[in-house]
Amino acid sequence: MFRSPSASQVRIVLGQNPGLQTGPGTNTYLFGWDRLVLIDTGAGVPAYDPLLLGAVSALKGRLSLILLSHGHEDHIGGLPAVKRMYPDAVARKFPGEGPVSATAPIAAGELIQHDGITLQAIHTPGHATDHLCFYWPEERALFSGDLILGEGTAVIPRVGGSLMDYLASLKRLRSLDIRRIYPGHGPVIEDPPAKITEYIEHRHMRERQVLDALHAGARTIREMVARIYADVPRGLHPLAEETVWNHLVKLEGERRVRRIQEAGRETYELLS
Ligand SMILES: [Zn+2]
Repeated sequence: MFRSPSASQVRIVLGQNPGLQTGPGTNTYLFGWDRLVLIDTGAGVPAYDPLLLGAVSALKGRLSLILLSHGHEDHIGGLPAVKRMYPDAVARKFPGEGPVSATAPIAAGELIQHDGITLQAIHTPGHATDHLCFYWPEERALFSGDLILGEGTAVIPRVGGSLMDYLASLKRLRSLDIRRIYPGHGPVIEDPPAKITEYIEHRHMRERQVLDALHAGARTIREMVARIYADVPRGLHPLAEETVWNHLVKLEGERRVRRIQEAGRETYELLS
């Protein structure tokens, strides 16, 4: 009798790379019936390898497909080691950042059919240009990579990040029927519509805070971050600066803010 694997059988294998930026570490997800699928590979920490081996043998399958959410090191760093353990597994990602040569391309919107499972690749740039979420319609599950996290909010990096793309990606997800989100970091999300709305509202709040900071006299990104992210550990401020930079790019595009370059210093002021 053919039995289709279900989301309840999704195993989380933690990347063993905890940190300020990664939380408890990168989540990698293993599922399937016989020919197993792995989403993301962690950062390449050796302690991850035996955990993956154990999870694969517990499912009594063999790993045959590796899908990568995006090319950041904490998601693809483990790929060489995983490929050494499972040389027959095919690795795939959206073209762009990372070790593209080691992977077969995934097209935006592609339906990936694999051993009774259908996953839709949804191109969701904003955190990274090559970012994909994988939607499993049969289970109403979404593997969200770094677009949506189980804890805290995503970084919009200066390189490869775009706040406008990020918001568009979140809004695109709203049209899907999602019951559970498996994020790239942090715990599983059981109330996806509320989380997606919260994420969109969070960005609007940050935008208001950037405007308020400018209004209060902050001129540089560092001054704005010190004000807006006062409750966030200082070690994360460099990342917050990148996110604020992206907010300012959006506001500049909307002609609400002007950027001024003077004496090697970048300052900003409100327009109107
Ligand atoms: Zn990332």
